[in-house]
Amino acid sequence: MAIIETKNLTYTYGQGTPFQKTAVENINIAIKQGEFIGVIGHTGSGKSTLIQQLNGLLRPTSGTVLLNGKDIWEDPKKIRSVRFKVGMVFQYPEHQLFEETVLKDIAFGPGNMGLGKDEILKRARAAAEFVGLKEELLEKSPFELSGGEKRRVAIAGVIAMDPDVLILDEPTAGLDPRGRDVLLSQIVTYHKTRHNTILLVSHSMEDIARTADRVLVMNAGHAAMFDTTENVFACDRELEKMGLRVPQITKIMAVLKAKGYPVGTALTVEQALK
Ligand code: ADP
Repeated sequence: MAIIETKNLTYTYGQGTPFQKTAVENINIAIKQGEFIGVIGHTGSGKSTLIQQLNGLLRPTSGTVLLNGKDIWEDPKKIRSVRFKVGMVFQYPEHQLFEETVLKDIAFGPGNMGLGKDEILKRARAAAEFVGLKEELLEKSPFELSGGEKRRVAIAGVIAMDPDVLILDEPTAGLDPRGRDVLLSQIVTYHKTRHNTILLVSHSMEDIARTADRVLVMNAGHAAMFDTTENVFACDRELEKMGLRVPQITKIMAVLKAKGYPVGTALTVEQALK
């Protein structure tokens, strides 16, 4: 059984107003437990609208989202529990940091789950370690940290809730190349250790090629492709028609394959082509 599945999922903004806009239409996808899914698509193709429905932040206009086979809106009063199971890291999540210390910020999510204090701190510390935040940073104010460190604090806050499905919307946006590589490797390591399900939304075809088992391509509100990373990137002409440039990706994929690397090796372009 799929961990997450959508059936005829459709979302319309401003229904019944002159600004009505159907942002996603008739999406039917099924994601298995443990998969690493890349989500790509031109700006405005419906990626954010889709993922916000997967954790119940947006309620579908029609169609359903099933989590472990159950409609997440079956009992709207329980929608909060879905948000703990399907964790979401938004774009530029560091803008949402607000606690006095890094540790308190990371502990905020698990602190709302009805856990004991020791368990909350244990989870927060483990999550901080996962994203590579050093012990001495934990008692600092999050606002004293560098951009990359703040990003890690925000991601650790979601990881600390131990979600079965983790959705990351452009987690490497705005980071320098080194910060990007480190963060991507940490996400891959987290996935390999925790064996949970990850959806990574990214404009970077390279990031997707380096991490995803399968790729969902959104185009004008529709799921245009959903296949193995290799098969999707082999369709470079079709992707370019959807406004997605895939420079070197097919070459990198071929090189990785020839070298016998599994997906998720998190190699850089330079390393792969060496
Ligand atoms: P992406 O994440 O791929 O950039 P979005 O899901 O943000 O795409 O947007 C899909 C479509 O829905 C776009 O045409 C966008 O303009 C529209 N849209 C997004 N958010 C809103 C909103 N709050 N109100 C009205 N239209 C919106």
